[in-house]
Amino acid sequence: FVVFDHVQKSYDGQTLVVKDLNLSIGKGEFLTMLGPSGSGKTTCLMMLAGFETATHGEIRLAGRNINDVPPHKRGIGMVFQNYALFPHMTVGENLAFPLEVRGMSKAERESRIMRALDMVQMGRFRNRRPAQLSGGQQQRIALARALVFDPQLVLMDEPLGALDKQLREHMQYEIKSLHDNLGITVVYVTHDQGEALTMSDRIAVFNDGRIQQLAPPAVLYEKPENSFVAGFIGENN
Ligand code: ATP
Repeated sequence: FVVFDHVQKSYDGQTLVVKDLNLSIGKGEFLTMLGPSGSGKTTCLMMLAGFETATHGEIRLAGRNINDVPPHKRGIGMVFQNYALFPHMTVGENLAFPLEVRGMSKAERESRIMRALDMVQMGRFRNRRPAQLSGGQQQRIALARALVFDPQLVLMDEPLGALDKQLREHMQYEIKSLHDNLGITVVYVTHDQGEALTMSDRIAVFNDGRIQQLAPPAVLYEKPENSFVAGFIGENN
């Protein structure tokens, strides 16, 4: 469903921060990019979202080369740690925004907003502004905003990074349930091994711009292919 075909990325024309990436992600899959800071995970997500262009190679979505498709035409929902809600808009207005951009009628917008808020159990907060919500509630709204236009793919970059441990674990469960119930394809970026192991169908372990191993959690845990993977998966566990 998503294919990175010999993708390379350099920001300065010299150093490759993504080195010959080949990765196929299945429809409905929950694929996590796991790795230390600076290993190239966010860059991969940015290229998939359309905010960065690949220096070499091709990215395909549902069989189509999207290298020249602008971000808002890719049908991709996004939740980033720093992809903040619009502070001057209410929750309802934040959710209406991606629908207005797509030219949806008022009636259609209404039903989608209600449904998305219900999905994250935030229907009662529709008229609040982001500053009047807790961190976890804001993150739920960001999730609802990413899902409100029925995207074919959702990208999440450290979406729970700002939350405390207990809320993090709760939100991991919620995100996973939404994924299972909606059958959406998720590409998730984290440097947290525990989070990756709990949530993913498969994990791509990144280091230094390359995938070190791509496998389901149990296989990574039991049969790491090299010492980097063994060391990284073993940390903090
Ligand atoms: P983190 O978890 O810290 O976000 P990451 O694995 O997602 O790390 P990237 O953010 O993709 O890694 O960064 C990979 C490399 O590319 C780093 O060396 C970083 O400094 C560099 N880099 C990222 N974005 C830019 C940019 N806009 N301009 C120049 N260099 C960049």
